[in-house]
Amino acid sequence: MKNTKQREVILGVIDKMKREKLHYKVEDVYLYLKSQGYSINLSTIYRNFNDFVEKGLLLKFILSDGTAVFDANVFEHAHFKCLKCGKIEDLSFKNMGINFKKETLESKGYNLKNISVLVEGLCSDCFKKN
Ligand SMILES: [Zn+2]
Ligand SMILES: [Zn+2]
Repeated sequence: MKNTKQREVILGVIDKMKREKLHYKVEDVYLYLKSQGYSINLSTIYRNFNDFVEKGLLLKFILSDGTAVFDANVFEHAHFKCLKCGKIEDLSFKNMGINFKKETLESKGYNLKNISVLVEGLCSDCFKKN
């Protein structure tokens, strides 16, 4: 597959992630593309996704097991990951009482590209079953 075609296919995935509020690991992207009849290897997906993080089109966060997760919702928010069923949910900074001031850090000379706050534990379903 040509690079331009690859980009197009990958942009399609990002669009789907945005519409369906999905949080995808590189493996999830790979399996989804495979199900659609595209074969793009994991390192190519990873490289392209990281490019989009650089451009501000995607957020990336790292789970405690080291796995990178990508998110097309680039509006600042936090994540909850259930350690039992693995589901990932969005949490708003506002509801968590986090008042994040990008400008304050930028005024100190930082150039921010990627902000991630991750909370891990049991979701309410898994906690009830425990
Ligand atoms: Zn759970
Ligand atoms: Zn998210």
